[in-house]
Amino acid sequence: MEKNYRAELTGVFGDPVEGNPTGVMEEAAYDALGLNYRYMTMKVTPDGFEDAMKAVRAIHMKGVNLTMPHKIHVIPYLDELSQAASIIGAVNTVVVREDGTLFGENTDGKGFVEALGRYGESPADKNIVILGAGGAARAIAVECALAGAARITVINRTASRAAELAQLISEKTKAEADCIAWEAGQKIPEGTDILINATSIGLGDDRDNRPDIDYSTILPGMTVSDVVFNPSNTRFLQAAAAQGAKTVNGLGMLACQGARNFTLWTGEAAPLDIMINKLKEEFGEV
Ligand code: NDP
Repeated sequence: MEKNYRAELTGVFGDPVEGNPTGVMEEAAYDALGLNYRYMTMKVTPDGFEDAMKAVRAIHMKGVNLTMPHKIHVIPYLDELSQAASIIGAVNTVVVREDGTLFGENTDGKGFVEALGRYGESPADKNIVILGAGGAARAIAVECALAGAARITVINRTASRAAELAQLISEKTKAEADCIAWEAGQKIPEGTDILINATSIGLGDDRDNRPDIDYSTILPGMTVSDVVFNPSNTRFLQAAAAQGAKTVNGLGMLACQGARNFTLWTGEAAPLDIMINKLKEEFGEV
Protein backbone atom coordinates (compact mmCIF):
# COMPACT_ATOMS: atom_id res chain seq x y z
CA MET A 1 0.00 0.00 0.00
CA GLU A 2 1.22 3.52 -0.79
CA LYS A 3 2.32 5.58 2.17
CA ASN A 4 -0.03 8.32 3.36
CA TYR A 5 1.81 11.34 4.70
CA ARG A 6 -1.31 13.48 5.13
CA ALA A 7 -2.29 14.19 8.74
CA GLU A 8 -5.94 14.54 9.79
CA LEU A 9 -6.42 17.96 11.35
CA THR A 10 -8.39 18.95 14.45
CA GLY A 11 -8.00 21.81 16.90
CA VAL A 12 -9.59 24.67 18.75
CA PHE A 13 -10.50 28.23 17.73
CA GLY A 14 -10.56 30.83 20.49
CA ASP A 15 -9.23 34.10 21.83
CA PRO A 16 -7.66 33.99 24.33
CA VAL A 17 -6.76 30.38 23.69
CA GLU A 18 -3.20 30.16 25.02
CA GLY A 19 -4.29 28.57 28.34
CA ASN A 20 -6.57 25.93 26.77
CA PRO A 21 -5.25 22.48 27.81
CA THR A 22 -7.37 20.35 25.45
CA GLY A 23 -4.59 19.80 22.92
CA VAL A 24 -2.34 17.93 25.32
CA MET A 25 -4.97 15.30 26.11
CA GLU A 26 -6.18 14.92 22.51
CA GLU A 27 -2.61 14.54 21.19
CA ALA A 28 -1.85 12.01 23.96
CA ALA A 29 -4.90 10.03 22.87
CA TYR A 30 -3.94 10.20 19.16
CA ASP A 31 -0.44 8.98 20.05
CA ALA A 32 -1.76 6.15 22.21
CA LEU A 33 -3.84 4.81 19.32
CA GLY A 34 -1.13 5.47 16.71
CA LEU A 35 -3.40 7.81 14.73
CA ASN A 36 -1.90 10.33 12.33
CA TYR A 37 -4.04 13.15 13.74
CA ARG A 38 -2.97 16.58 14.97
CA TYR A 39 -4.70 18.99 17.39
CA MET A 40 -3.78 22.65 16.94
CA THR A 41 -4.54 25.40 19.44
CA MET A 42 -5.38 28.39 17.22
CA LYS A 43 -5.95 32.06 17.96
CA VAL A 44 -9.04 33.16 16.02
CA THR A 45 -10.53 36.58 16.70
CA PRO A 46 -14.17 37.42 15.88
CA ASP A 47 -13.22 39.37 12.73
CA GLY A 48 -11.33 36.35 11.39
CA PHE A 49 -13.94 33.80 12.37
CA GLU A 50 -15.70 33.56 8.99
CA ASP A 51 -12.39 32.88 7.20
CA ALA A 52 -11.45 30.32 9.85
CA MET A 53 -14.75 28.45 9.30
CA LYS A 54 -14.13 28.49 5.52
CA ALA A 55 -10.68 27.04 6.22
CA VAL A 56 -12.21 24.14 8.17
CA ARG A 57 -13.69 22.94 4.89
CA ALA A 58 -10.91 24.16 2.60
CA ILE A 59 -8.15 22.23 4.37
CA HIS A 60 -10.42 19.22 5.03
CA MET A 61 -10.25 19.29 8.82
CA LYS A 62 -11.95 16.46 10.71
CA GLY A 63 -13.40 18.93 13.18
CA VAL A 64 -12.76 21.73 15.57
CA ASN A 65 -13.50 22.79 19.14
CA LEU A 66 -14.75 26.27 19.88
CA THR A 67 -14.04 28.23 22.98
CA MET A 68 -14.54 31.86 24.01
CA PRO A 69 -15.86 33.93 22.22
CA HIS A 70 -17.07 31.62 19.43
CA LYS A 71 -19.44 29.06 21.00
CA ILE A 72 -22.63 30.95 20.08
CA HIS A 73 -21.85 32.79 16.85
CA VAL A 74 -20.66 29.58 15.16
CA ILE A 75 -24.26 28.35 14.90
CA PRO A 76 -25.22 30.01 11.55
CA TYR A 77 -22.20 28.27 9.93
CA LEU A 78 -23.44 24.77 10.81
CA ASP A 79 -25.71 22.42 8.86
CA GLU A 80 -27.12 20.49 11.83
CA LEU A 81 -27.10 20.71 15.63
CA SER A 82 -27.50 18.01 18.27
CA GLN A 83 -30.62 18.26 20.44
CA ALA A 84 -28.57 19.46 23.43
CA ALA A 85 -26.60 22.04 21.42
CA SER A 86 -29.80 23.48 20.01
CA ILE A 87 -31.38 23.81 23.48
CA ILE A 88 -28.18 25.16 25.07
CA GLY A 89 -27.72 27.57 22.15
CA ALA A 90 -23.96 26.97 22.09
CA VAL A 91 -21.58 24.57 20.37
CA ASN A 92 -18.13 23.51 21.56
CA THR A 93 -17.45 20.78 19.00
CA VAL A 94 -17.86 20.80 15.22
CA VAL A 95 -17.62 17.58 13.24
CA VAL A 96 -16.94 17.67 9.50
CA ARG A 97 -18.86 14.78 8.02
CA GLU A 98 -17.81 12.68 5.02
CA ASP A 99 -20.13 14.70 2.74
CA GLY A 100 -18.57 17.98 3.93
CA THR A 101 -21.53 19.09 6.06
CA LEU A 102 -20.87 20.50 9.53
CA PHE A 103 -22.49 19.04 12.67
CA GLY A 104 -22.47 20.99 15.93
CA GLU A 105 -22.44 19.31 19.34
CA ASN A 106 -21.99 20.54 22.89
CA THR A 107 -19.97 17.96 24.80
CA ASP A 108 -19.50 19.94 28.06
CA GLY A 109 -22.71 18.74 29.74
CA LYS A 110 -22.41 15.21 28.36
CA GLY A 111 -18.86 15.08 29.73
CA PHE A 112 -20.23 16.11 33.11
CA VAL A 113 -22.94 13.41 33.13
CA GLU A 114 -20.43 10.79 32.00
CA ALA A 115 -17.94 11.80 34.72
CA LEU A 116 -20.72 11.41 37.32
CA GLY A 117 -21.39 7.95 35.91
CA ARG A 118 -17.77 6.97 36.54
CA TYR A 119 -18.54 7.53 40.24
CA GLY A 120 -21.72 5.43 40.03
CA GLU A 121 -23.96 8.51 40.05
CA SER A 122 -26.69 9.57 37.62
CA PRO A 123 -28.91 12.67 37.33
CA ALA A 124 -32.02 10.50 36.73
CA ASP A 125 -34.83 11.34 39.20
CA LYS A 126 -32.49 13.52 41.27
CA ASN A 127 -32.85 17.01 42.73
CA ILE A 128 -29.91 18.94 41.33
CA VAL A 129 -28.63 22.30 42.51
CA ILE A 130 -26.31 24.27 40.24
CA LEU A 131 -24.26 27.25 41.43
CA GLY A 132 -23.81 29.53 38.41
CA ALA A 133 -25.75 30.27 35.23
CA GLY A 134 -22.98 30.79 32.65
CA GLY A 135 -21.97 28.57 29.73
CA ALA A 136 -20.88 25.56 31.80
CA ALA A 137 -23.96 25.75 34.04
CA ARG A 138 -26.22 25.96 31.00
CA ALA A 139 -24.68 22.88 29.36
CA ILE A 140 -24.79 20.89 32.61
CA ALA A 141 -28.38 21.90 33.43
CA VAL A 142 -29.64 20.91 29.97
CA GLU A 143 -27.85 17.54 29.90
CA CYS A 144 -28.93 16.68 33.46
CA ALA A 145 -32.52 17.53 32.49
CA LEU A 146 -32.29 15.42 29.29
CA ALA A 147 -30.82 12.58 31.42
CA GLY A 148 -34.02 12.56 33.51
CA ALA A 149 -33.34 14.87 36.47
CA ALA A 150 -36.47 15.49 38.56
CA ARG A 151 -35.66 19.11 39.45
CA ILE A 152 -32.95 21.59 38.61
CA THR A 153 -32.44 24.56 40.94
CA VAL A 154 -30.19 27.34 39.64
CA ILE A 155 -28.49 29.59 42.21
CA ASN A 156 -26.70 32.57 40.68
CA ARG A 157 -25.24 35.92 41.75
CA THR A 158 -27.03 37.68 38.88
CA ALA A 159 -30.63 36.68 39.58
CA SER A 160 -31.90 37.41 36.06
CA ARG A 161 -29.47 34.85 34.56
CA ALA A 162 -30.62 32.21 37.06
CA ALA A 163 -34.25 32.89 36.13
CA GLU A 164 -33.48 32.70 32.42
CA LEU A 165 -31.77 29.30 32.75
CA ALA A 166 -34.55 27.89 34.97
CA GLN A 167 -37.12 29.05 32.40
CA LEU A 168 -35.15 27.40 29.57
CA ILE A 169 -35.13 24.08 31.46
CA SER A 170 -38.87 24.29 32.26
CA GLU A 171 -39.81 25.14 28.68
CA LYS A 172 -37.48 22.83 26.74
CA THR A 173 -37.19 19.71 28.92
CA LYS A 174 -39.35 17.53 31.16
CA ALA A 175 -37.49 18.48 34.35
CA GLU A 176 -38.94 20.95 36.85
CA ALA A 177 -36.79 24.00 37.43
CA ASP A 178 -36.57 26.93 39.79
CA CYS A 179 -34.07 29.63 40.70
CA ILE A 180 -32.63 31.39 43.72
CA ALA A 181 -30.77 34.72 43.87
CA TRP A 182 -27.48 33.93 45.64
CA GLU A 183 -27.23 35.40 49.14
CA ALA A 184 -24.17 35.57 51.40
CA GLY A 185 -23.82 32.22 53.21
CA GLN A 186 -26.36 30.71 50.82
CA LYS A 187 -28.06 27.60 52.24
CA ILE A 188 -28.31 24.55 50.00
CA PRO A 189 -31.99 23.54 49.74
CA GLU A 190 -33.17 20.51 51.71
CA GLY A 191 -33.60 17.40 49.59
CA THR A 192 -30.66 18.20 47.29
CA ASP A 193 -29.08 15.02 45.84
CA ILE A 194 -26.39 16.54 43.61
CA LEU A 195 -24.73 19.95 44.13
CA ILE A 196 -22.51 21.42 41.40
CA ASN A 197 -20.22 24.43 41.44
CA ALA A 198 -20.46 25.67 37.84
CA THR A 199 -18.93 29.08 38.57
CA SER A 200 -15.30 29.99 37.99
CA ILE A 201 -14.71 30.53 41.74
CA GLY A 202 -11.55 28.63 42.79
CA LEU A 203 -9.98 28.51 39.31
CA GLY A 204 -6.25 29.00 38.86
CA ASP A 205 -4.98 32.05 40.77
CA ASP A 206 -8.33 32.14 42.60
CA ARG A 207 -7.58 28.70 44.12
CA ASP A 208 -7.80 29.95 47.73
CA ASN A 209 -11.45 30.91 47.21
CA ARG A 210 -14.60 28.85 47.42
CA PRO A 211 -18.28 29.63 46.79
CA ASP A 212 -19.92 31.57 49.62
CA ILE A 213 -22.43 28.98 50.85
CA ASP A 214 -23.37 27.55 54.26
CA TYR A 215 -21.25 24.38 54.16
CA SER A 216 -23.15 22.88 57.12
CA THR A 217 -26.09 22.46 54.69
CA ILE A 218 -24.05 19.96 52.64
CA LEU A 219 -25.10 16.55 53.97
CA PRO A 220 -23.33 13.15 53.82
CA GLY A 221 -25.81 11.67 51.31
CA MET A 222 -25.08 14.33 48.68
CA THR A 223 -22.83 14.08 45.65
CA VAL A 224 -20.89 17.32 45.19
CA SER A 225 -19.08 18.23 41.99
CA ASP A 226 -16.94 21.10 40.76
CA VAL A 227 -16.39 22.18 37.15
CA VAL A 228 -13.09 23.81 38.10
CA PHE A 229 -10.34 21.43 37.01
CA ASN A 230 -7.15 23.37 37.86
CA PRO A 231 -6.62 22.68 40.71
CA SER A 232 -8.73 19.52 40.70
CA ASN A 233 -9.09 19.24 44.49
CA THR A 234 -10.70 22.65 45.01
CA ARG A 235 -11.44 24.20 48.40
CA PHE A 236 -15.13 23.71 47.57
CA LEU A 237 -14.64 19.94 47.16
CA GLN A 238 -12.42 19.74 50.25
CA ALA A 239 -15.15 21.39 52.34
CA ALA A 240 -17.83 19.10 50.86
CA ALA A 241 -15.71 16.02 51.60
CA ALA A 242 -15.27 17.23 55.18
CA GLN A 243 -19.09 17.24 55.44
CA GLY A 244 -19.09 13.57 54.36
CA ALA A 245 -20.35 14.16 50.80
CA LYS A 246 -19.15 12.11 47.83
CA THR A 247 -17.07 14.39 45.55
CA VAL A 248 -16.47 14.42 41.79
CA ASN A 249 -13.81 16.78 40.43
CA GLY A 250 -13.71 18.78 37.18
CA LEU A 251 -10.90 16.79 35.57
CA GLY A 252 -13.30 13.93 34.83
CA MET A 253 -15.69 16.29 33.02
CA LEU A 254 -12.87 17.83 31.01
CA ALA A 255 -11.47 14.44 30.02
CA CYS A 256 -14.90 12.92 29.29
CA GLN A 257 -15.86 15.80 26.97
CA GLY A 258 -12.46 15.50 25.31
CA ALA A 259 -13.03 11.77 24.90
CA ARG A 260 -16.37 12.43 23.19
CA ASN A 261 -14.68 14.84 20.76
CA PHE A 262 -12.04 12.22 20.07
CA THR A 263 -14.66 9.61 19.20
CA LEU A 264 -16.70 12.04 17.10
CA TRP A 265 -13.61 12.89 15.01
CA THR A 266 -11.86 9.49 14.80
CA GLY A 267 -14.69 6.97 15.20
CA GLU A 268 -12.52 5.18 17.81
CA ALA A 269 -13.12 4.62 21.52
CA ALA A 270 -11.02 7.10 23.49
CA PRO A 271 -8.26 6.05 25.93
CA LEU A 272 -9.85 7.99 28.81
CA ASP A 273 -7.37 7.04 31.54
CA ILE A 274 -4.46 8.18 29.37
CA MET A 275 -6.23 11.49 28.81
CA ILE A 276 -6.91 12.01 32.53
CA ASN A 277 -3.32 11.14 33.46
CA LYS A 278 -1.95 13.51 30.83
CA LEU A 279 -4.05 16.35 32.28
CA LYS A 280 -2.93 15.56 35.83
CA GLU A 281 0.67 15.60 34.62
CA GLU A 282 0.05 18.92 32.89
CA PHE A 283 -1.38 20.46 36.08
CA GLY A 284 1.49 19.09 38.17
CA GLU A 285 -0.77 16.65 40.03
CA VAL A 286 1.27 13.47 39.48
P1 NDP B 1 -19.16 32.07 32.42
O1 NDP B 1 -18.38 33.33 32.45
O2 NDP B 1 -20.11 31.81 31.32
O3 NDP B 1 -20.00 31.96 33.81
C1 NDP B 1 -19.40 32.20 35.05
C2 NDP B 1 -20.41 31.95 36.18
O4 NDP B 1 -19.72 32.09 37.42
C3 NDP B 1 -21.56 32.94 36.21
O5 NDP B 1 -22.73 32.29 36.64
C4 NDP B 1 -21.09 33.96 37.24
O6 NDP B 1 -22.16 34.63 37.88
C5 NDP B 1 -20.40 33.07 38.23
N1 NDP B 1 -19.40 33.75 39.05
C6 NDP B 1 -18.16 34.14 38.69
N2 NDP B 1 -17.53 34.72 39.72
C7 NDP B 1 -18.40 34.69 40.77
C8 NDP B 1 -18.34 35.13 42.12
N3 NDP B 1 -17.24 35.72 42.60
N4 NDP B 1 -19.41 34.93 42.92
C9 NDP B 1 -20.52 34.32 42.44
N5 NDP B 1 -20.63 33.88 41.17
C10 NDP B 1 -19.60 34.07 40.35
O7 NDP B 1 -18.07 30.92 32.54
P2 NDP B 1 -18.22 29.38 32.10
O8 NDP B 1 -19.58 28.90 32.50
O9 NDP B 1 -17.80 29.22 30.70
O10 NDP B 1 -17.09 28.69 33.00
C11 NDP B 1 -17.30 28.50 34.40
C12 NDP B 1 -16.25 27.55 34.92
O11 NDP B 1 -16.42 26.27 34.32
C13 NDP B 1 -14.79 27.95 34.61
O12 NDP B 1 -14.03 27.73 35.79
C14 NDP B 1 -14.37 26.99 33.52
O13 NDP B 1 -12.99 26.73 33.56
C15 NDP B 1 -15.16 25.76 33.95
N6 NDP B 1 -15.37 24.79 32.86
C16 NDP B 1 -14.97 23.51 33.10
C17 NDP B 1 -15.15 22.54 32.15
C18 NDP B 1 -14.69 21.16 32.43
O14 NDP B 1 -14.67 20.37 31.49
N7 NDP B 1 -14.35 20.80 33.65
C19 NDP B 1 -15.79 22.85 30.85
C20 NDP B 1 -16.23 24.21 30.71
C21 NDP B 1 -16.01 25.15 31.71
P3 NDP B 1 -22.86 35.94 37.23
O15 NDP B 1 -23.86 35.43 36.23
O16 NDP B 1 -23.50 36.63 38.38
O17 NDP B 1 -21.75 36.76 36.60
